[in-house]
Order: sequence, then structure tokens, then C-alpha cells
Amino acid sequence: MFDVIISGAGPSGSKCAEILAKNGFKVALIEKDTNWRKPCGGGVSARIFKYYPQLRKFNIPKKKNIVMFSSQYYKLENRWEKLKDYSIVMDRLELDNIMRDVAVDAGVELFDKNISFDYVIKNQKKIGIRTKTPSGVNEYLGKIIIIADGMSSKLAIKSGLRERWKTEQLGIAKCAILEGENSLDSSSIYIFFRPYKGYGWIFPIDEHRFNIGCGTFEEDNFSYNLNEIYKEFLNNPNIKDLLPRSNYKQIWMDSYPLPSVGVLEKSLYGENLMLIGDAAGFVSPISGEGIHASIVSGDVAAEIAINALEKEDISENTLKKYKFHPKIKKIIRNFKIKHSMADFFFENRGQNLNTVFKIAEKDIAFKQEVINIFLYNATPPKEFFQRIKNTIS
Ligand SMILES: Cc1cc2nc3c(=O)[nH]c(=O)nc-3n(C[C@H](O)[C@H](O)[C@H](O)COP(=O)(O)OP(=O)(O)OC[C@H]3O[C@@H](n4cnc5c(N)ncnc54)[C@H](O)[C@@H]3O)c2cc1C
Repeated sequence: MFDVIISGAGPSGSKCAEILAKNGFKVALIEKDTNWRKPCGGGVSARIFKYYPQLRKFNIPKKKNIVMFSSQYYKLENRWEKLKDYSIVMDRLELDNIMRDVAVDAGVELFDKNISFDYVIKNQKKIGIRTKTPSGVNEYLGKIIIIADGMSSKLAIKSGLRERWKTEQLGIAKCAILEGENSLDSSSIYIFFRPYKGYGWIFPIDEHRFNIGCGTFEEDNFSYNLNEIYKEFLNNPNIKDLLPRSNYKQIWMDSYPLPSVGVLEKSLYGENLMLIGDAAGFVSPISGEGIHASIVSGDVAAEIAINALEKEDISENTLKKYKFHPKIKKIIRNFKIKHSMADFFFENRGQNLNTVFKIAEKDIAFKQEVINIFLYNATPPKEFFQRIKNTIS
């Protein structure tokens, strides 16, 4: 019998498991496949070092510049060379396995090649989870169950806490790791907003390898074909300037959805159950960045579970503290603002964002405001939106 069973050893599940094990609890971390590379840009801001100081030792190239383009290719660039901290871009397979190793070193029992598909129910209570393995069905019993198995989570739906995602609540993206000579600045990351609700990115991993991808969001998922926009993105003349070769070696490629409407705040907890990470919508609606928020959700869920286990009260009433934790409230609030900003920026084929970047090219104070909004979670003042509207009309 485990104290806590966690389904999914991605960033949210691994962090949650690690914190619980460090506090002396018996944790089962269930993973369908540790060789699966989660489709992802692998871009993470310096905030990750607070949760994974170990990453600093890996000599990962430092990113100290962001270059963003609006759909009409107005450019907004921010270099933070003088600041000590830096963002990183990692191959997700490598990053996830580092996080899993940290959890295992803390005492977590990792069960690989286990696909969780249902709960073990006794007296109408969820007392464990059932998994498919190469050698048959396994059962893991535990006091608290934490769902961290991402977008495709079956257990999240079977928990009754939330419904299946609707297409209009998602982003859908295709990405690849390519290799070859290029004109990218390897200390930069590049984001390209599109003339539809969506964006593309190029994140250099090292001198020769880069993660490239693009996707659509919400209603525009219905209007655009992912393979076509990916092809169009790669062949766009502005991209060709950076990637001049006619063919690059493809190391890996995949497509995957991501939540785009913010945290599902009504679905975060139940009787002896919590949802964390992508399974609960912890992804920024404007940038698609979810690694950090997922780790935070895992960390907070662990804190709440520890408290519940110590009190021997794993009821819904105790676990609701997860939703009301200041760090979770802050993410919920921030993602709500980001979602409405995304709606505003993408209006009229991205015209508002074109105007924002166009003004920022000339007005340094305004540029700083935009950078604060995009990179430092600043809330835009009302005048910000008014200025854009006035400029357009
Ligand atoms: C194309 C794309 C690009 C992205 N780019 C970025 C980026 O650059 N930066 C960023 O911060 N975020 C990015 N994100 C978002 C980010 O990938 C997620 O927010 C983050 O991975 C969520 O972590 P998680 O632990 O909640 O879920 P996941 O990372 O999805 O991990 C879930 C884990 O559960 C396992 N699993 C799934 N089903 C089962 C099952 N039935 N049984 C057992 N195990 C299971 C999976 O194998 C996986 O290991 C991107 C997302 C996509 C789709």
C-alpha cells in the first residue's frame, strides 16, 4: 500500500513524487514509457532552477535573448545579457529523465511501461489505479491518487472531475528536432506569431540542433490543417533566412495538443484525488509554456497531500486547499489575463499584435511595457489596449 500513487512521470508528476518521497512518504510513480519524447519546444525560463537547481550542472547553453515577430514581421527583441539568469532549451526526453532520476534518488518507486487506464474501486471509493503492462494488468493501491498523465489522461475523465477536452479548448502543434547548419543565434529563442490564432517557434538546442514547430489554437484548429501550416512555416522566406539549407536532418517529429484556456479550476481536486499539470490545464494560454506551471502544481499538490496524510484526513474538504494555495491562485489569475490578451492580440488576423510590435519598434517605454507583459507576467493597464485600438482606427 502506497501513501500516494501518481499517474504520469512528466514534470508535474516527477516533482510531486520527489517532494512526497523527500518527506518520508511511500510513492508509486506510474509511467507509460520513459522512452517517449513528449512533443514540446523544450523552452524553459530561469524559473525552473528554483525547482531543479541540478540543471545548472548540465552545461546547457544559455539563452539570453528573445526575438518575436508579429504576423506582418514587425520585430520585438529583448536581450538580457547583463542579468545573471538565463533560459534554457532542452530535448524533452533528456529533461524528463533528469526529473525522474531526481525523484527516484529521493526514494520514489518508478514503475515504467505501465499504462494507467482505470481506478481500483472498493465501497465506491477510489483506492488505487489499474495499469496495463507488457505482462498483464497491475494494480497499485494508495491513499491519495494524483493524476499527472497529461493531455491524454483517461483517469482525469474517469475521475468525474472534468470532461474530455473540446477541440476549441486546445492548441494543436507539430514540432521537430532538426539538425544542420543554420543562421540562428544559439543564445536566442525565436517566436513567430501567425495571421491566425497560432504561432511558430525555433528554439536552438545547440549550434546545430534546433526545435522547430507551429500550431493553431481554439477556433482556428478547425480552419487550418496542421501539416499544411507546418510546411508553410518551414518554407516561409523569413524562416528560410534563418534556415537556408534545403533539407535538414530530422532527428524526431511529432504532433500533440495542449490546453489553451487556462487552469480548469473546478476540476482540481476530489475525494483523495488531485489533478496536476496539463491534465488540469496548467499551460499559459499565450505562450503555450507549461513546464514551469506544471512543476509548481506538482510541488503544491505534494505540500497539500503531505498535510492531509499527516492529519489523516484525505477528504475533498482537506484537498481543496490545493486550489486555494497562493501559488495556484496566482497561476489561475495570470492565465485568465493571458487568455483574454491572446484573444485581443489575435483579433483581425493578428492585426492588434502587429500594431503592438509596430509601436514598440519606435517607442522604448511602450516596448518595455510589452516585454513586461510577455516575459514578466505584468498586467497590461487599460490604456495599453486603448492605445492599440486608437492606432488602428
Ligand atoms: C507541441 C508542444 C510544444 C510545447 N512547448 C513548450 C515549451 O517550449 N515550453 C514549455 O514550458 N511548455 C511547452 N509545452 C507544454 C508542456 O509540454 C506541458 O505543459 C508539460 O509537459 C506538462 O507537464 P505534465 O507533467 O503535466 O504532462 P506531460 O509532460 O504530458 O507528462 C505526462 C506523463 O504521463 C505519461 N502518461 C501519459 N498517459 C499515461 C498513462 N495512461 N499511464 C501512465 N503514464 C502516462 C506520459 O508518458 C508523460 O511522461 C508544449 C506543449 C506542446 C504540445
